[in-house]
Formats: sequence, structure tokens, C-alpha cells
Amino acid sequence: MKGKIIEIKSDLNTAIKNIIKTLVQKKLFDAVFVPVRIPSRESFAYLLIKDKEILESITPLPPTMPVQGARALKDLTRLGKLNLRILCIMRPCEIRAAVELAKLRQITLQNLTFFSFDCPGVFPTAEYIKSPEKYDQNIIEKIKAWQEDGLRPNCSICVNFSHYNTPADLHIGFYRNHLLIYPVSKNSQKILDILSYRAEDDLTEWENSINTLLKKKKENRSRKFSLLSNQTKGIENLEEFFTGCINCHNCMRVCPICYCRQCFFESPEQSHHEAEEYLARAKEKGGIRFPPERMVFHLGRMNHMALSCVGCGSCEDGCPMDVPVGQIFSFIGNEVQKMFDYLPGKNLEEPIPLLTFKEDELHEYEDTREKK
Ligand code: SF4
Ligand code: SF4
Ligand code: SF4
Repeated sequence: MKGKIIEIKSDLNTAIKNIIKTLVQKKLFDAVFVPVRIPSRESFAYLLIKDKEILESITPLPPTMPVQGARALKDLTRLGKLNLRILCIMRPCEIRAAVELAKLRQITLQNLTFFSFDCPGVFPTAEYIKSPEKYDQNIIEKIKAWQEDGLRPNCSICVNFSHYNTPADLHIGFYRNHLLIYPVSKNSQKILDILSYRAEDDLTEWENSINTLLKKKKENRSRKFSLLSNQTKGIENLEEFFTGCINCHNCMRVCPICYCRQCFFESPEQSHHEAEEYLARAKEKGGIRFPPERMVFHLGRMNHMALSCVGCGSCEDGCPMDVPVGQIFSFIGNEVQKMFDYLPGKNLEEPIPLLTFKEDELHEYEDTREKK
């Protein structure tokens, strides 16, 4: 595997920023879509930047992810193809979500170029806001050491944090105070030419380090999934798992994949019932919990989007009640995706199984028990 290795002379964010600035100065891109620290300093937002001066203030590698990049990109391309050539700097799970949304016709990818990077994970937004300075320093240390404590739980079990399965044009790796440029798409040759780089350096050591980390993360993930499987077996356990949920639907609002403008679970048919109906249900069950339809919402949402869940954990990050909703969606998503041998967002050309219905399939999952 070949690429370009560059020594980091200052810090990671500055090193990436310098590459971006050169590409904009040399007019390969008209604008950059990248995280920037907000003026009050305790959070980050995606900005579409045309002004070269503002490029100075970007943070390509923020320690937290208050908004999932694909969700932000959806707003930018909602009205169709862009006439600007835009460079998007996003994490692997954000790029996969963007590709998944393109398959669902919610994002237009024309004229967009994606740079991904080895993602060390992000800190939970609520924790970051309490002490930004501590985490700003910490993220660089964590990248160097690939430590996982304190990260979003989904990041600790993320197995698609690097170039594998990430459909970027160019991937940036980190290894021993060096930055590695790995060209992925055909498009990337032009980028290397503009930067006067040749992809001739051997990237084997970096790739070996990624594979070692991947092995560890796969083990973490399989341990976590087996715990979740035991914890949520049967409807009573599942109810217990979601017991803290106040049915606010924030997990749905921050999820990049939940894109419906009118959610079925917020429609009058689903959420407005006559008092008599509730009374009848209360009589039947002995009592009903309010707000109602909590489990219907979670099971319905799972049913709608588990095949496309990229496991980013944004839903859990946005949950005010600390329900481990990102972990359970990731677990269920993984199970469903295995059934269809499908990894969301990996390949733009691969159709979403939900949109390619086959009448004759999945017999191995049929319940063959005789009905009484
Ligand atoms: S899930 Fe976490 S570790 Fe994986 S790519 Fe997304 S932010 Fe990075
Ligand atoms: S359900 Fe949660 S983990 Fe899955 S894509 Fe949506 S926000 Fe990310
Ligand atoms: S899981 Fe959390 S974010 Fe989702 S509806 Fe329940 S309380 Fe709200």
C-alpha cells in the first residue's frame, strides 16, 4: 500500500488545515465544508467556507460531534446539485451516512469531494461542554495513544474508523507524529498533483497499526453486543432497557439517517388518541404509561432504519436521559445488516436491501414452527 508520508511539525489540526488551504488557494475547490469552533468556544458547527481568511479558524479534527456531518450536508444539498466544487472534511461514519443518504435520494454527491481521516472517536457532547479545555488537549493525546476511555460508547466499539469501508476520495492517516495521505478514488490523483505529492511511500507500518487496533475494537464490540443481546432478550427486558426514555424523540431528530420530514410516529394518526381510547387500553392492561407509545416508537424506528444505521452514536449523544440508544441501534443494525450482507454507506453502487425487495429470500429466518 502506497501513499505520502509527511512529518507533523506543529499539530494535527494545523497540518490538515495547511493541506486544505493549499487546495483552496490553488483553486481546486471553491468552498470547504468543515467543523469550526463556535465563538463561545464550547462547541463546534459545520461551516461552508468560501472566505480564505475564515479557513484559518477551522478545526478539521474536533474532539466532539454535536451535529452529525451527513445531517448537516443534507441541508446543504437539499435542493439538488451544487454549482460549487466543495471539499468536505468528515469522519468515516459521517461519510458513510452521507453515501447512504445519497442512495435514499436525500443528498446529492455531485461536485463534492470527501477527505476522511483515522478517527480516534469523539467525546460525549454533554461532557465536552463542561470542560472544553481538558478535552481539547486530551483528543490529541488520545489520537497518539488510541485510548478509548471517556469516548462515546459507540466510538469504543466502532470498527469502521479508518480507510477500510470508507468511500472517501482521500484518506488521512496518523502514525508516530506523521500524517499519511492515502489516495482512494481516481479523483485523488489530481489532488496529489496539486499538492506536488507522489504516492510512493510505503504505508505498511501504518496499516499494521490500524489492523492491531481493529482487532481490539472487534473484540470490544463482540463483548458489548453479547452483553446487549442478553440484556434485551424478550419484550420485558427490552422495556426495561428503555425504562428511562421520556419519548422526546430527540434520538430521531439528531440521527442522520432518519430523514422523513413528517415522521410517522409524530403524525396525528399515531400520536393523538381520544381519551376514551387510552381509558380502554388502561382498563385492558391495568394502567398505561405516559407519554405513551414509547416502545412502538423505538421498535418502529429500528424497523425503518436499522439497515442503514452507521453506528455513529449521535442518537445516544442527543439523549437527555442517557438511554444507551446508540448502542442498541448499532447492535440491531449489525444483526440486520449481516442478514443482508450489507454495510451501509460503503459503496454508492450497492443498492439498499430495503429498496430491492425480493419475494423469494431469507427462508433461513422464517419461523417454521407449526402454528397452533
Ligand atoms: S463512530 Fe466514532 S470512532 Fe467511528 S467514525 Fe464515527 S466518530 Fe469516529
Ligand atoms: S440510529 Fe443512532 S447510531 Fe444509528 S445512524 Fe442514527 S444516530 Fe447513528
Ligand atoms: S431514547 Fe432518549 S432521546 Fe430517544 S426518545 Fe427516549 S429519552 Fe428521547
